Amino acid sequence: MLVDDESITLDTIQIFLEDAGYQHFVLTSDAREAIPTLERERPDIVLLDLMMPHVSGFEILAYIRGNERFEHLPVVVLTSSSDAPTRLRALEMGATDFLAKPVDESELVLRVRNTLNAKAYQDRLANFDRLTGLPNRQMLVDRLEWALNQARHAGYHGALLHIDIKRFRRLNEALGPALADELLQHVARRLATEIQHDPVASILLQAGSISELSRLGGDEFALLLSGNLRPEQIARIARSLLEAMAIPFRLRSQDLYLTFNIGIATFPEHELDTNKLLGNAGVAVRSLQTDLSNANGAFCFYSPELNERAIDRLDLETDLRHAMERHELRLYYQPKYDVATETVIGAEGLLRWKHPQRGYVSPAEFIPLAEETGLIVEIGRRAIEEACGQLAEWIANGRDPGVIAVNVSVQQFREKSFVDHVRATLSRFGISASQLKIEVTESLLMTEQEQAAKLLGELRALGLHLSIDDFGTGYSSLSYLRTLPIDELKIDRSFLVDVDSSTDSAAIVRAILALAHSLDMTVVAEGVETLEQLAFLRAHGCDACQGFLFSKAVPAAEYQALLPQLVTV
Ligand code: C2E
Ligand code: CA
Ligand code: CA
Repeated sequence: MLVDDESITLDTIQIFLEDAGYQHFVLTSDAREAIPTLERERPDIVLLDLMMPHVSGFEILAYIRGNERFEHLPVVVLTSSSDAPTRLRALEMGATDFLAKPVDESELVLRVRNTLNAKAYQDRLANFDRLTGLPNRQMLVDRLEWALNQARHAGYHGALLHIDIKRFRRLNEALGPALADELLQHVARRLATEIQHDPVASILLQAGSISELSRLGGDEFALLLSGNLRPEQIARIARSLLEAMAIPFRLRSQDLYLTFNIGIATFPEHELDTNKLLGNAGVAVRSLQTDLSNANGAFCFYSPELNERAIDRLDLETDLRHAMERHELRLYYQPKYDVATETVIGAEGLLRWKHPQRGYVSPAEFIPLAEETGLIVEIGRRAIEEACGQLAEWIANGRDPGVIAVNVSVQQFREKSFVDHVRATLSRFGISASQLKIEVTESLLMTEQEQAAKLLGELRALGLHLSIDDFGTGYSSLSYLRTLPIDELKIDRSFLVDVDSSTDSAAIVRAILALAHSLDMTVVAEGVETLEQLAFLRAHGCDACQGFLFSKAVPAAEYQALLPQLVTV
């Protein structure tokens, strides 16, 4: 924190210190503001001019030293007077060091560095996060207690924003720890900068408001806001933070797009206790993580209903474990059709959960839950076993079921035994590998590049078919794709929705078709619901399609009933 009535001095010092790598400055040119600002910002070090109008630096120094809270706060006084008495007086009053004006860059940096390296500051390091330099969780809890007290006494309203990077775990593994750390530093810096900018800053300019960013750990950050803040102002701050974070992060000449979620717990509406508040913000942010509809990041206020939903999810998790034991999960089969001949060429196995009380639970709901809890590994193994067992049964019944595809999640892919399990299951049921297809999403391929290439190679060597699911929603590059042994590409349903009305979607689908065919891959369009879509696909040479126009996913027996058609063609 810099206190000086001359703004030129403030600016110069900031530039010098920034060049030396310091961050997060608070500049105060009106000495009357110094004490409230100090209380609010809790700086690591104060650079204080002694000669200022209205309030002298000596008064501020006396306040600091007379206050237990600031016992360890280093204060470097600035003085243009070279007279010994002034300096002596300042040192007697408890100044840590002094610096002559006009400020010399190297002297300034040296003084600041020495002061911050001194013991008093080292003690404080326990409160700061090493990686980002932000206050850590311990410090946040401390500040939160203070803010809640303030709110209680001054009638303030505030909020705790829990900021989280969506799917960071995958990103972390893809980038490796060093780059991931670098990315987190970028994120911390951008958050900190944004909080100092319009329109966030203008909302926070109100008297008495504070904003304090901290790192909770991992990819989780927290922003504490307090003052006379109305919910819509808090929402505006959250929205503009999301906007700022949507700009790609440049990391070693690569652009990374991150998605952020913000969970907001306001006070004093809900419980006034720090733990509860942290917990509520966490519930709010987690409710967003499991929401599939917010691809671009979102914020959400905590509510008791959300809490109920969180509890509900816990129940669902328990039920899912039971579902496996009770065999409530079954594969249904959605036929894939050849576009030219409209005959069945195979099917995609899709899980269905018939819950004894809740009825039918959608995979869109329980697959993400299974992925979060790790249950997907076991669920996925069983899906592969069920598909193979079913293939054997159809064949035994004298049918040709075509190629059956099974979806595979990233966690399954990471299991060392994955390929072995596939191989063992095929031989257990006496199935040829060429009858089984594995669908992996484009995003899995992007986050697991090295591992994916290796595993896909092994699966291909076994003789399996490989398919890229949800194509068009990730960011894969052509040069990368051509290195993978993929034979099928599935155009994501979202492009099909308006393919016959939107020139954008039509252009994307045509481009994907051209790209896939140039790489000798076949193309399956997902989610075909209308004859117009089918006509478009046929006109542009799409190979296969699946969708409600033909059939939804059906039980094994119903699929088998479709199979004779295949034999007659
Ligand atoms: P997905 O792999 O993209 O599967 C296609 C989804 O689109 C299925 O939803 C299917 O029922 C639906 N669909 C098919 N045709 C149409 C259509 O014409 N219109 C519309 N609106 N939707 C259509 P479902 O069965 O709810 O599955 C959702 C997701 O759950 C799947 O997306 C897949 O990612 C996951 N999933 C399902 N079964 C498994 C499994 O055994 N293992 C794993 N790891 N994931 C699975
Ligand atoms: Ca699929
Ligand atoms: Ca898909």
